[in-house]
Formats: sequence, structure tokens, C-alpha cells
Amino acid sequence: MTLIDYQQDMETCCRCSACKFIPLENVKGFEHANVCPSISRFEFHAYSGGGRLGLGVALLEKKIDYSDKLLEVVYNCQMCGACDTSCKYAMDMEVLDPINEIRITGVAGGHTLPVLDKIIASLRQTGTMVPGSRAKRGDWAEGLDVKDFTKQKSEVIYHAGCRTAYSRDMWPAARASIKLMQKAGIEAGIAPEETCCGGRAYQMGYRDDAIDQAKRNMDAIKKAGAKTLVTGCAECYHAFKVLYDKFGVRGDLEVLHTSEYFDQLIRAGRLKPEKKVDLYVTYHDPCHLGRQGEPYIRWQGKRRPGQVILFDPPKEFRRGTFGVYGPPRDVIGSIPGIRLTEMARTKEYAWCCGAGGGVRETNPAFARWTANERIGEVAETGVEAIVTGCPGCEDSFREAIKAAGNNLKVFDIVELLAESIL
Ligand code: SF4
Ligand code: SF4
Repeated sequence: MTLIDYQQDMETCCRCSACKFIPLENVKGFEHANVCPSISRFEFHAYSGGGRLGLGVALLEKKIDYSDKLLEVVYNCQMCGACDTSCKYAMDMEVLDPINEIRITGVAGGHTLPVLDKIIASLRQTGTMVPGSRAKRGDWAEGLDVKDFTKQKSEVIYHAGCRTAYSRDMWPAARASIKLMQKAGIEAGIAPEETCCGGRAYQMGYRDDAIDQAKRNMDAIKKAGAKTLVTGCAECYHAFKVLYDKFGVRGDLEVLHTSEYFDQLIRAGRLKPEKKVDLYVTYHDPCHLGRQGEPYIRWQGKRRPGQVILFDPPKEFRRGTFGVYGPPRDVIGSIPGIRLTEMARTKEYAWCCGAGGGVRETNPAFARWTANERIGEVAETGVEAIVTGCPGCEDSFREAIKAAGNNLKVFDIVELLAESIL
């Protein structure tokens, strides 16, 4: 698909602005009716989902071209997909896909941001999005008795992801994941020199690099004979499950987030959370596990011209409803002693942590502002800790909490589960 394939979707936009808000019947209050960080921060229509579709049409009609200002608008967006979900509450049209295509078309035409080019250069040279030595990538697993799936066959693979591998703060969750699997009798394999999933490159507009990474990863996974891939990173989860399907390379590989995997093991009685963890928490739905985590739906056909929008054959839309919402809450609920309360914006209408879409790299102040908004929402619940299932969200929140001098704690779900079991 290219930008022109979304021309009809973009032209369908009626500028109703519903993509800026949570649908009315789901709004919990005036303070938290907004759902798009970009329009909330910059307060000009171009910075909304619908506004970006207008820019896409103008690009196709050659009324505008890529300029510094256009790139500034295009990249001040977390690619969180909230606009897509809110629009599809009433409409049958794509919003996030064309927004991504505007970036992809720009990159293909050489219209890029130097800060992102630098990250992609690292990906091309070392296979990681975080500039750093590939040989150090497996350091998080030092001392663990875990097999290398690039050398030994492995039915289950654990993929740590760049953000986890290169951040010591994230190592406890990764190490706990392996230990919990071992406790349940599962011998998972890891790749000490694992390569990036490519998901973030795709969001930044570097589609060819993302596809290269997908092929490289799937080759290694197939050689290992793996049937299931488990990851604790929401962005990796989205890449392996949704994007690899879109690229046509996933095959029948089952992709599970750690919350889904451990939820299954708890239900099967293979893991028993028994120790009390006395903590009052709220749960943050990562965008790529929640609304963007629902399965990819392949559709090929035509949209019939006319006043009523008809697809031939009928098209099923991904509306964010079938993301991973239950398993993380069920795992938290299975831990004795933990009390969970929800924020105003949850599940498909959750507010982004600020880290997505390359914003942390292109505009750290905007990423921080977005995280602060969420931290404020957390504070209203009166909890002691925020629990999530993505190292990107964790990192974003930790940074914002530190800057604010707040004493809120941040945990990955697996860390709390491990405290209750190991
Ligand atoms: S993208 Fe959808 S919700 Fe937003 S203005 Fe256009 S039609 Fe309305
Ligand atoms: S993807 Fe997120 S930040 Fe970007 S326009 Fe849509 S809602 Fe706003």
C-alpha cells in the first residue's frame, strides 16, 4: 500500500474532529476527554488525525510539498493510534495507516529528520535502534541458565527487544520472565545477539528497513523451529504480531505478550502467585499492546464510489476493541495483596505515555509533556504505583516522575508476578 491507496479514506474525512476526543459515551469527565496528545499540545487542526489526512490529500494533489514545517507537523505525533480508534467509532475509514504512509513517502523521497536518520544508521550497521554494541545485547541474561536459539532448537523464544536489552532498569523484568518460564517447566531460548524487531523504524517511516529486520528475524526463528514468541515489549509485540503479518512473513508463529503467556500459565495451574504483594496500583495500557495490538486483518477489494461507503467484499476494520486488555489485568488480579484501580482513560482510549512514533527522539519536551499528562491522571487515583507492560512506557514514566520529584513507583507486570511466585 502507498499513500495514493488511502486517497479515498483521506477524502472521506469530514473534519468532524471526533479523532481528538474519546467518544462521548466513554468520557469519564471534562478533564480527560482528550485522546490525541498532538492536538492537545499544539492546538491547531493540522496536528490531529483528521488534520494529517488533509495534509495527505494536499500532498497527493501537489498543493503542498515536504518542507521543514510539514516534517515538524508529521513527526510531532506519537503514532499512538487513538485518532484511528476514535474515528472508527462512527466511521469506516483508515486514519493511522495513511498517517504512517505520509512518513514512508517522505522517507522514500529523502525528506527525513537527521536525528532519526542517525538511529536508522545504527539499525543498519548494528541491528539495534539503540546505538550500542550488539555483542552487549545479551548482557541482561548473564548468569541465567538459558539456551541460545541460534544454536539450539527452541519451541518457545523470548525476545527482549532493544529498549530492554540496553537499559539496566528493564533487566529485572526480562530476567524474571525467564525464571518464571523455568519455574513452569518451559525451556525458552533467547538470541544473545538478537536484532531489532523493526517496529519503531516502520513507525518512523523507514519501511524498507523494517521489512529487512522482519525477514532477518523470521529466518532465525524458523531455523530454531520456534512455534511461539514471547515478548515483554509492546512495540516488539505489535511488530511481530501485526506488522510481520502485514508484511506477509509471520507465517503461523504464535506471538504472545508476557501478560498473555503468564496468564495462560496461571490459568493452567503451572504458576501459582501465592506470596502477598501489598501494593495499590493502576494499570497503563501501552498503545501497541492495547488498541494497536489487535490482530491484522488482510483485505483486498474495492471501495465502491457513492454517498454510502460500501466495500466489495465487505471490509472488517481494526477498531482497537480487540487489543490485549484482559490478560494484564487478570495477571495483576491474580497476585494476592495487590489492589487495582483504573484511570479515567483506559483500554482503547488510553492516553499515550509519550514515547511512541520517534517523538522521544525528535521532540523530547513534547514526549515529557505527554508523560506528565498521564502521571497527573495516575496521581488522581491516589495509587502508589503504575504498572505497565512495555519498557518504552516505563522509561517515559520514570523520566517524568524523576523530573517532577514525585515518589510514584513504576513496575512491569512480570516484576510483580515474580515477587509473588519466586
Ligand atoms: S479523521 Fe475521522 S474523526 Fe477525525 S476529523 Fe476526519 S472523519 Fe472526523
Ligand atoms: S496517532 Fe496519536 S498523536 Fe498522532 S494524530 Fe493520532 S491520536 Fe494524535
